[in-house]
Amino acid sequence: MPLTMPEGKRLAVSLGPDFDAHSVWMGTFRSTSQTDLSRGEFGAEVGVPRLLETFARYGITTTWSIPTHTMQTFRAATELIAVAGHEIAAHGVYHEYVPKLDLDEERRLLELQLRQHDQLLGSRPRGYRSPALDVTDHTLDLLGEYGFEWDSSLMGRDFTPYHPRMVTNIDRELGNTFGPPSTILEFPVHWTLDDFPELESFKGNATMQSNQAVLERWKDSFDFAYERCAGGLMTWTLHPQTIGRAHNLVMLERFLDHVFDHEGVWFPTLSQVYEAWTD
Ligand SMILES: [Zn+2]
Repeated sequence: MPLTMPEGKRLAVSLGPDFDAHSVWMGTFRSTSQTDLSRGEFGAEVGVPRLLETFARYGITTTWSIPTHTMQTFRAATELIAVAGHEIAAHGVYHEYVPKLDLDEERRLLELQLRQHDQLLGSRPRGYRSPALDVTDHTLDLLGEYGFEWDSSLMGRDFTPYHPRMVTNIDRELGNTFGPPSTILEFPVHWTLDDFPELESFKGNATMQSNQAVLERWKDSFDFAYERCAGGLMTWTLHPQTIGRAHNLVMLERFLDHVFDHEGVWFPTLSQVYEAWTD
């Protein structure tokens, strides 16, 4: 396994929040309803401080992916995250729906978010998580061109980083063709290790899962990785507006109690994982 763990550690766990606030409703759900926006406001005003308090109590430092729209709308919450010593990665401008962007617009928004990270945080993001975990054929090439080191949007592995290959030719009769591996290192994600689709409630949706079922799924995934994939990385995606609701935070803390019953779990930022990786 090419991930060099610190002495005594056997599994890296990233509980990285995506602090979307208003932007996920505007960009992904195309809604500016005051009620939807207020759900994002809950994430900033209540979810972020609660999650920071939990992370501090367990001694967890992690990587937060934040659209620049959120950084500008909720400066105080963003400041709390930075002051607590967490890493901040790029997560779009307004949670734009990336697959619909043409190449010029995707490039323009990438340049804009780099300028805004510099203006608002005085730093350059080392990694990118695409809004709603969707990319175009060009995203990884653009990330490489603009000096990014890692991405965390794809699902081609589960517990090991990898260099993704784009499918360059889709042929329904003769099979598909992959291009060469990207220079970008991928920290894979999956919807089952994401709080939003399973725990968020929408008007008329019947897909919300029981917290008990989600907790069991998270524990089974963790136990599998811990026992069978030593030297690996598990990457969660949490949303302050979702995980910050009382019953979900209680579930997260039950999950963390389970994780902390195991020796040798490492909670790095994703850039620390990048530094621990050798090709
Ligand atoms: Zn997001």
